Amino acid sequence: MLIKFWGVRGSIPAPLPSTRIQSKIVRALQEAAAEQVDLSNPRAIEEFVAGLPGATRGTVGGNTACVSVETPGGLVIFDAGTGIRELGEAMMGREFGRGQGEATIFFTHTHWDHIQGFPFFRPAFVSGNRFTIYYMHPHVEQVIIDQMKAEWFPVRFSRMTAGLEFHQIQEGESVNVAGLEIQGKALQHPGIAYAYRVENGTSSFVFATDGEYKSLSASHTKEYNDFFSGADVLIFDAMFSVRDSIIREDWGHSSALIGADIARQAGVKQLVLFHHDPAAGDDEIWRIRQATVEYMSQDLSSGPPEVLVATDGLEINLSDAHDFRVGTHMVSDVVVFSLGGRFDANGAEIFEAQFDELLEQRDMSRIVLSMEDVTDISMAGVKALLEARKQTYSMALAGLPNNVHRVLELAVTTDFFAIYDEVDTALEALNASNNERH
Ligand SMILES: [Zn+2]
Ligand SMILES: [Zn+2]
Repeated sequence: MLIKFWGVRGSIPAPLPSTRIQSKIVRALQEAAAEQVDLSNPRAIEEFVAGLPGATRGTVGGNTACVSVETPGGLVIFDAGTGIRELGEAMMGREFGRGQGEATIFFTHTHWDHIQGFPFFRPAFVSGNRFTIYYMHPHVEQVIIDQMKAEWFPVRFSRMTAGLEFHQIQEGESVNVAGLEIQGKALQHPGIAYAYRVENGTSSFVFATDGEYKSLSASHTKEYNDFFSGADVLIFDAMFSVRDSIIREDWGHSSALIGADIARQAGVKQLVLFHHDPAAGDDEIWRIRQATVEYMSQDLSSGPPEVLVATDGLEINLSDAHDFRVGTHMVSDVVVFSLGGRFDANGAEIFEAQFDELLEQRDMSRIVLSMEDVTDISMAGVKALLEARKQTYSMALAGLPNNVHRVLELAVTTDFFAIYDEVDTALEALNASNNERH
């Protein structure tokens, strides 16, 4: 699954003022002079810029909360802060522009910074598109409709002609969508905000924006540790400094250092600092990251989570349980299967279904399995290959990655298959043996 950040600010959009852009340019030029970068060489300039610190080279961005998750099974969106406008524009270039798109939206709560982009979400104005909207507060549907009333917005909600289906869910209830299992949990926040945990069988992430953790004693944080437990990615409300979170008690926000504690206790692998204070500049946000890394370095007993700053456009790719792929095409009368991804129990099921379906349709006496994109293989995958071998007259495997070949060796099964380096050589060999037959 691909996680992408479209808006990372809390409370209100925070565009980058010109004065800050100028100071970034000045800093970059000073640095270039100090490093004696050859400014007549475009490649040298590009390399130099790519190596600059994040706060000099770019910005965390000014849009409010919106995160998307794309899987082979679909698109899921979390919150509709102002970042959803740009996500919507990107979606219009796809099937959503033709009214053939389907996506799911989850709302954490209805504070402005989490809903304000929705009236500007163009795919919702295209007939034929379908959106399923999940939320946990009972009032979400009404708030989404009301924010487009004439007093606040020129276009009525009724003009959103895409199919919009609203569903309230409860804590402890799971939603299965796009190959993901998603559950919500209440966080301390004025009016409550809900965190969502997203699992795909092999990877998991938690979207925990807008949450205050008032007591950090073990018995109070246990419920959160359980919900965040072992997540590959924890997107965390890092709006305040620890100092501010004490001064602004009950404002409902947390800090990066508190996130570091919770992430470490919960065995999280990557902590993503999110819901940045609109008053904080890029330098300050990157300094918070630095402080968090330094703070966590004091614990040498376990590998601390990696700390990332959420920025507009940041992408994090987590592996998909079902990212096994099968494509087929014919080369004369040989069926070529192109396999990719993880050939495990899920992959075996996908492969067997496709294989059986094709077997019913056509003569599959000679097949080649192109396996160069297979990332790993389990015994379930090996077993599926052996079953396929039984049902065909001749079957060749081509382009096996070393680790996949090694697994066939460990299972002492290499002699069941004709194995070739490339698809072309496998095809030649199959054709040659076929000619001999005739
Ligand atoms: Zn917020
Ligand atoms: Zn809020």
